[in-house]
Amino acid sequence: MSHIIVLGAGLGGTIMAYEMRDRLRRSDRLTVVTLGTSFAFIPSNPWVAVGWRQRDEVTVDLSDIFKRRGIDLRPEGAKRVHPNQNRLELNDGSFIGYDYLIIATGPDLAFDEVPGLGPDGHTHSICHIDHALATRERFEAFLREPGPIVIGAVQGASCYGPAYEFAFILDTALRRARVRDRVPMTFVTPEPYIGHLGLDGVGDTKGLLESAMRDRHIKWITNAKVTSVEAGTMHVEEVNDDGSTKARQDLPFAFSMMLPAFRGVDAVRGIEGLVNPRGFVTIDKHQRNPAYPNIFSIGVCVAIPPVGKTPLPVGVPKTGFMIESMVTATAQNISALLRGEEPTAVATWNAVCLADFGDEGIAFVAQPQIPPRNVNWSSQGRWVHTAKIGFEKYFLHKVRQGKSETFYEALALDMLGIKKLKAIHNEPAE
Ligand SMILES: Cc1cc2nc3c(=O)[nH]c(=O)nc-3n(C[C@H](O)[C@H](O)[C@H](O)COP(=O)(O)OP(=O)(O)OC[C@H]3O[C@@H](n4cnc5c(N)ncnc54)[C@H](O)[C@@H]3O)c2cc1C
Repeated sequence: MSHIIVLGAGLGGTIMAYEMRDRLRRSDRLTVVTLGTSFAFIPSNPWVAVGWRQRDEVTVDLSDIFKRRGIDLRPEGAKRVHPNQNRLELNDGSFIGYDYLIIATGPDLAFDEVPGLGPDGHTHSICHIDHALATRERFEAFLREPGPIVIGAVQGASCYGPAYEFAFILDTALRRARVRDRVPMTFVTPEPYIGHLGLDGVGDTKGLLESAMRDRHIKWITNAKVTSVEAGTMHVEEVNDDGSTKARQDLPFAFSMMLPAFRGVDAVRGIEGLVNPRGFVTIDKHQRNPAYPNIFSIGVCVAIPPVGKTPLPVGVPKTGFMIESMVTATAQNISALLRGEEPTAVATWNAVCLADFGDEGIAFVAQPQIPPRNVNWSSQGRWVHTAKIGFEKYFLHKVRQGKSETFYEALALDMLGIKKLKAIHNEPAE
């Protein structure tokens, strides 16, 4: 009998538990240690923040589903991983031992790295369901008294898609509310160009996103470092290619959402051999930590080096498709070890993304993630908005059902799906 623990029940950890359960022997024990009993589908948060989704539409209580699937749930959360003792210290002071640990905690949101940033400061967030609900309250008040908006991501961020999505979704929501003409919008990003996305662009994401921003009257500042935020003003330093200061701007805002940099969570940060200096879990190509070979990691909490040098730090995104492939590789590798075999499965780590604009959107596929690529494709259309809703419905359905099957893989590899969606919207297939 072996005991496997999955730490974190988010987008990666939940399907990790389902897929691991499918592969374990009846005698093996599987426990998920997470914060609370609720799963939240983070990709829906931009919709939550403008009132297009309610909390209960994008969250799932895992207690009964896990019980049905034979998965123990520990909602206390982990205070610290003790890899030399093969055990976790939980937030209630108790300990729980493991034979294999899969770390899937997602990120810690490093708002404190920029003075005045974040929900405890002067900008809003969509990174957590509670943040998105608070943002929505502020947005509703803003609609009664509109003013300038600043949206974007700060230096060191590694998740740019949702920043673009939220800018375009706000534009759509403001037009529908008939107040867009009273709202100057500025997009602020450390990326060296619009559409870089931490991936040095994919297909023509630069052209597509710049054009969409021009179309929707959203101004932008790239190579932008946010130095601090005070009530109603964001202080931004624009840098040259060599990192020297090009210009300083004080941007007034009545509403702002900025994505923070990510780092590893407290429970693992600083553990020698387990994590890198930012607290991300170091793994080999089999998702396995080299220093502690009974620890695996998946999702946003794994360490991935940046794609190339940029004047300001720009991290690589870890999106749903990549996470699903990490999950499958990890489940295969742990079940191989349980059979006494060596792990051989390798995640594909390709980037496949649907960026919703609220009425249309942009999709891209990068295979492999680092250029030059075999597939370097991007496309724009109303079908992307439909596909994003499909992704949400399908993912939540499989969480409720206790199933682990992949969605993005099917979407990316079976381009037929995209052709069908384009046909529904009468858009030409490429
Ligand atoms: C706003 C936003 C929108 C996004 N939209 C998309 C999208 O449309 N498509 C896409 O492919 N990707 C998207 N992403 C990127 C990525 O897919 C998501 O962030 C995804 O949720 C990451 O999954 P994860 O399992 O790594 O982390 P999470 O989903 O964040 O889950 C981590 C889990 O670990 C738990 N946890 C944390 N600390 C502890 C602890 N100490 N003990 C126990 N449990 C802990 C958390 O409570 C949480 O349940 C988006 C990201 C953001 C921020």
